[in-house]
Amino acid sequence: MPASIRLKVGTYTRCEFTAKETHCPLCGGKLRISQHAAHVFWTLKGRLGTISKEKRCLAADCPNPKLRYRPPEPRVMAISHSNLGLDLVFYIGEKRLSQGRTFRSLWRDMEARGIRVTQRTLQNAFHYYMSLFDRERNEEPKLRSRMQGNGGLVYALDAVRYEPKGPVLCVLLEVLTGEVLHAKRIDKITEKAMLDFYGTGKAYADGLDLPIWSVALGDLLWEIEALRKRCPDPRRLEPPRVKKAKKIVRSVKAHAKRAAKPLVSSTTS
Ligand SMILES: [Zn+2]
Repeated sequence: MPASIRLKVGTYTRCEFTAKETHCPLCGGKLRISQHAAHVFWTLKGRLGTISKEKRCLAADCPNPKLRYRPPEPRVMAISHSNLGLDLVFYIGEKRLSQGRTFRSLWRDMEARGIRVTQRTLQNAFHYYMSLFDRERNEEPKLRSRMQGNGGLVYALDAVRYEPKGPVLCVLLEVLTGEVLHAKRIDKITEKAMLDFYGTGKAYADGLDLPIWSVALGDLLWEIEALRKRCPDPRRLEPPRVKKAKKIVRSVKAHAKRAAKPLVSSTTS
């Protein structure tokens, strides 16, 4: 999914994203941009700043006029309230678990890459990484009632890796709450793995008896590729990996459509 603007500002790359919804799924009213939220964080490819243009429904009779519709990309790219990107979190989690690296050695690794974070930040990142696989977090009554209160779900389904051909972290994020509902580490992205992964999110929505208003897919693969190549416009990129990602995206979209009920759209086309 292309960012509308991507500029090199000072020491970080800045990207702007706008919520894709145009009309309120609850009352059909027109949505308007109500707020710009900024977030600056570290990724393995450097520092990144995102501006999220969030929307709200202005209809007088809207049942939920306070609900903010947010663009999915910034939510998936970084942990909320943290200065770390998800690729970095995955990297730290993997290195600590598979190679037993200490936080001190990881911190030196970060310093060598020009990433200025504290050891405490790395510890927090590791705890966050471990919590992604804890299914119980989805069952928290508070989270469930927040979703019920919104009246529907906006999913972002994505995958991240920190090195070519390396392991992949798949995440299913609920964009309106910003919560990761499901995460899985796999060795390779395949159509089947992504379909199975999406199936879990679908089952979760069914369990809550909530409609899935939209699904955004495959954005992070795209963004990371663009960042790696320092490309001002990700739309121009057509490397084999992105082509493959798009094929998988099409397949999951078709599957989601066949599953009927939810209104499925994707911002990657
Ligand atoms: Zn409305």
